[in-house]
Amino acid sequence: MSENTALYTLAAQRLTEYMKGKNVRKTPERFEILRIICQTPGIFSIDELQEVMEKKAKFQVSRVTLFNTLRLLEDASLVIKHTLARAAHYECCITPHPMVCLVCQKCGTVRKLESSKIENWLSEQKCKQFIITQPVLYFHGLCRSCMVKKSIKNRKAKNKGKETKTKTKIQKK
Ligand SMILES: [Zn+2]
Repeated sequence: MSENTALYTLAAQRLTEYMKGKNVRKTPERFEILRIICQTPGIFSIDELQEVMEKKAKFQVSRVTLFNTLRLLEDASLVIKHTLARAAHYECCITPHPMVCLVCQKCGTVRKLESSKIENWLSEQKCKQFIITQPVLYFHGLCRSCMVKKSIKNRKAKNKGKETKTKTKIQKK
C-alpha cells in the first residue's frame, strides 16, 4: 500500500465516523475530493484544487461543492485552512504537525518553509490555559515573482525620472 493510499484510508475512516456522528450524508463527491486532497502535497487554493480535480482526476465539481466539502473536512480536522492570504488556502492535515508558512502580501500565495529548527521550536511551545492543537507560524512578505515585478516597476519609474530630467535640460537650452 502506498503512503497516499494509507493516508486516504485513514482519512476516509475518520470522515465516515465524523459524518455518522453529525448525521451528514455520505456522498461519493466528498470522498473523491478527500482522495485528491490526500494526494496533493502542500498548500492549495480552491481554484488550484478545482483544476487538479478536473485535469488530473477528470472529475467535474462545482466551486460550491468544493467549498462546502472543504468546510466539512475542516470541521472533521482533516484539513487546515490558512485564512491570512487574500484567498483562503487549505492543506491536508490528518495528523497535526508544526508548520511555518510564507504569505505573500502582494499576490496572496502561501508557501511552506521547510525549517526543522523552527518546527522543533514550535512543537515544544506550551501555553497556560490553552491547548495548542495546530502550531503554525506565518511570515508575511513578498514572494519571488512579486519581488521581481516590484524591481522592474522601480527600474521603470527611475528611468522615467531620468527621461524627464533630460527633457527639462534640453528645454532649458
Ligand atoms: Zn507574490
